[in-house]
Amino acid sequence: MIEFNCYLLPHSQVVRQCALTALRVSSNLTGATKLDNYFLIDGVMTMYKELADLLFPNIKITVDEIEAKYPLRDLVDGAYVTRFGPSPTGFMHVGNLYGAFISSMLAKQTGGIFYLRVEDTDSKREKEGALDAILNGLKAFDIDYDEGYGKDGQYGPYLQSERVEIYQAYAKKLVSEGKAYPCFMSEEEIADIRSGQELRKEKIGIYGSYAVDRDLSLDEVKAHLDNGDSYVIRLKSPGDSHNEIILHDLIKGDISLPENDIDEVILKKDGIPTYHFAHVIDDHLMHTTHVLRGDEWVPSFPKHLQLNQVLGFKPCKYAHIAPLTKKEDGKIRKFSKRKDPEFAVSYYEEAGIPKEGVRLYLATLANTNFEEWYLQNKDKSIEDFKFSFKKMPTGGTLFDMEKLNNICRTYFSRISAETIYNDALEYYKKYDKEFYDLMVKDKDKLISFLNIERDSKRPRKDIATYKDIKTESAYIFNDLFYKDRNETYKDIDEKIDYDVINKYIEIYRDFDSEDEWYNGIKILAEEMGYAPSVKMYKEDPTLYKGHIGDVCEMIRHLLTGRVKTPNLYQLLRIIGIDEFKNRVEFYKN
Ligand code: GLU
Repeated sequence: MIEFNCYLLPHSQVVRQCALTALRVSSNLTGATKLDNYFLIDGVMTMYKELADLLFPNIKITVDEIEAKYPLRDLVDGAYVTRFGPSPTGFMHVGNLYGAFISSMLAKQTGGIFYLRVEDTDSKREKEGALDAILNGLKAFDIDYDEGYGKDGQYGPYLQSERVEIYQAYAKKLVSEGKAYPCFMSEEEIADIRSGQELRKEKIGIYGSYAVDRDLSLDEVKAHLDNGDSYVIRLKSPGDSHNEIILHDLIKGDISLPENDIDEVILKKDGIPTYHFAHVIDDHLMHTTHVLRGDEWVPSFPKHLQLNQVLGFKPCKYAHIAPLTKKEDGKIRKFSKRKDPEFAVSYYEEAGIPKEGVRLYLATLANTNFEEWYLQNKDKSIEDFKFSFKKMPTGGTLFDMEKLNNICRTYFSRISAETIYNDALEYYKKYDKEFYDLMVKDKDKLISFLNIERDSKRPRKDIATYKDIKTESAYIFNDLFYKDRNETYKDIDEKIDYDVINKYIEIYRDFDSEDEWYNGIKILAEEMGYAPSVKMYKEDPTLYKGHIGDVCEMIRHLLTGRVKTPNLYQLLRIIGIDEFKNRVEFYKN
């Protein structure tokens, strides 16, 4: 009877009487026949069952029938089943991407499943195009899911709006067990309660004496329904906020929280579930093992734990991810949708930031030991790294664009020129047709340019984005080089010694090795009054017009219009001596 008392403590007049009688039976007549007790409990249960049928006349499917459609997954021991559960309420941001990325990695490395479930239960906040943005965002960063929305999968449907019958069946079951009830309170009544609670600095919500509709009799419910009054279904919380529960968070460690005592809404007026209710049911049916989500959900955990308990589910393991932050004017703040374009995942593609660079950065943020591992394992890919919750940051995680750029530079320095070329081609096809055409026309030239110093011990790191490819290589393309003389040579105010340049053109030989070429310049420098080494020049600058470095700089300036370029010898070979002559003329005029 104690059990009965806790769980099914009834409040309606009729039911209360049944319960009191039941208590009397059990306490006074210790030897009361079981039959009597069952009869009385049945009386209460019958009332709840009737209530459930009244509220959900169209829900014929039972919870047992639903559960049978979601058998245990056949996976290896230790496999993680993770999910990405976005709500299509806006654009996809890097925080979403970060969570999805880690979830997918953890599933992959444990031989598990990563699935996509679209949590579209809040139609008021839904935005057109948001779903496509999610799918495009995942695709753009190679975050592939094993099953879910837009794909096959035995544990669907994966769009919550297509699962309403399922949630209602569970709600019906809870009502029929006296664990949930219809609440007819109007929005005004709730708002009044709220302002009173705010005034008295009480916890906000419908609980304890505020939960007046817990007490409605079946007749009262019927009267409301006959009247056409709208209602929500609330959980009849069995909790007590004086009790403490522990969230064993896989990232943050144990967090102590008060037990939930709020009669949380589980089905809204339109019969659509709240996030709290829907995700608990889905995670159970889809056999999620690990939930990774933003740490803004930590305070809701007691509700979720309680929902799992009243529904008789084994809760998943939870890992709450700290939000990504940004540094501005020396201060750390949360990302802002309005102020920070880089918060949207769509920003990266357009900015020409390679997806692999972003993935590498997400991995760097996700596990503190990733960066070192990546630097030491030049030939490995992200998939080879073992991610763990223990190495995840517990507090705000700084998302630093400069750091991202550096990671991209390293990434570009490690892959082949052909790969860069092909990926960049895709980018320019979409964003800059003019340069795309040049890339196609001068493919070999560009690949040779990208190959300069690529295989050296300290490869070039001048490219962080696809955009940089155009900026860095523009001068190898005649069409871009000759656009505007003032623009091309804008940084060059060097005095050019044409005697040296003319002589250089005379001695240039296409077949010279780099050493031969450099020796040739040395001899030329000396002949023309320049020191063949910087050291000699420094010993007595009055003896020379300049040094070999100045000769090279003159050639570089005329050839490229720049003061800083990769290896000059290689550039001369790519651009060619005839073109060098043209450029000298272009500069002169
Ligand atoms: N739909 C929730 C959101 O977009 C997901 C939370 C979760 O992953 O459980 O915030």
